[in-house]
Amino acid sequence: MINCIVVSAGLAGATIAEQLANKYSQNVLAIESRFNVAWHCYDKLGKSGIRLHMYGPHLFHTDNSKVWTYLSHFTDWDMYEHRALVVIHGEKVPVPFNFVSLEALFPPALAERIESKLLDIFGSDRKINILDLRSKHDEDLELLANFIIKMCLSSTA
Ligand SMILES: Cc1cc2nc3c(=O)[nH]c(=O)nc-3n(C[C@H](O)[C@H](O)[C@H](O)COP(=O)(O)OP(=O)(O)OC[C@H]3O[C@@H](n4cnc5c(N)ncnc54)[C@H](O)[C@@H]3O)c2cc1C
Repeated sequence: MINCIVVSAGLAGATIAEQLANKYSQNVLAIESRFNVAWHCYDKLGKSGIRLHMYGPHLFHTDNSKVWTYLSHFTDWDMYEHRALVVIHGEKVPVPFNFVSLEALFPPALAERIESKLLDIFGSDRKINILDLRSKHDEDLELLANFIIKMCLSSTA
């Protein structure tokens, strides 16, 4: 006999249905209006053996071991890594902007000077925004701020 009905078998609905059934020993009916479960996250193996994400690519990352352990009951994991690069003045550089980007785009002496100012002023483990750069009223940091703004504007134009 069914004593719980869950409407939807997306991530949330499927999790609730599973927990009700297995943790709380309920007889659950999950009703899903689409042909597949997990809606946006749904994927399937294509003919070529390549996994296709039917509604846009989905990546999973968490630092929550409880979530990881829970999901590992239902899936294996494939390692995935991506690097975001943009082409600026013909150079592929990392975004968000970092020291590697700086060294690729600025003359070495200037890049070195800016890096040492950034480290002296902000330390090594901080995200810095344009306002931070501008707040120091330093010629080199101002130049860096203007450069980044110009890059952003030209990429949206
Ligand atoms: C292109 C794209 C990329 C994304 N990338 C990521 C990512 O990389 N990482 C990430 O963590 N998240 C990503 N997300 C977000 C993620 O897809 C959603 O957070 C997640 O799918 C939400 O799950 P949900 O169960 O809340 O809702 P949904 O997945 O929307 O599930 C709701 C379900 O309810 C069903 N339903 C609705 N009405 C009824 C009804 N009346 N009767 C029966 N069933 C019904 C629907 O058919 C659907 O299956 C992405 C989303 C998109 C669109």
